[in-house]
Amino acid sequence: MKKKKKIKHKSISTLKKKAWSSSKADIEFSKWIRARDGRCLRCGTTAQLTNSHFWSRNKSALRYEPDNCITLCAWKCHIYGWEKEKQGAYRDFMIQRLGQERYDELQKIYYQSNTTRLEAIKGCMKLLKCAYPTLHYFKK
Ligand SMILES: [Zn+2]
Repeated sequence: MKKKKKIKHKSISTLKKKAWSSSKADIEFSKWIRARDGRCLRCGTTAQLTNSHFWSRNKSALRYEPDNCITLCAWKCHIYGWEKEKQGAYRDFMIQRLGQERYDELQKIYYQSNTTRLEAIKGCMKLLKCAYPTLHYFKK
């Protein structure tokens, strides 16, 4: 009985601290990446921008890693462009952008990290909180 009451009391603050769903984190992180870059980094357009993951977003440790993500326009440069050139032009671009050392670090994370999705989401929330401290969902 006592426990039930405690949970009721804490419910509002607990809700605020709850981790985002994966899809919510994807949306917010994508917004942040697109705001950071402002244009397609391959062709320069500002239309139909998407967040492109160099190493697959299925790897939780790199799903919300800013260094693993760049803005590309949806079709020409993302789906029909660099998505198909991850061992070619896209790779060359990432090595140029990050430096070989950081590129290798991310590659190591890709093959070795055991970060869970929940840990990754919490990392994403922390990152975006630092980037956008005034966003409504972080207000107390
Ligand atoms: Zn483009």
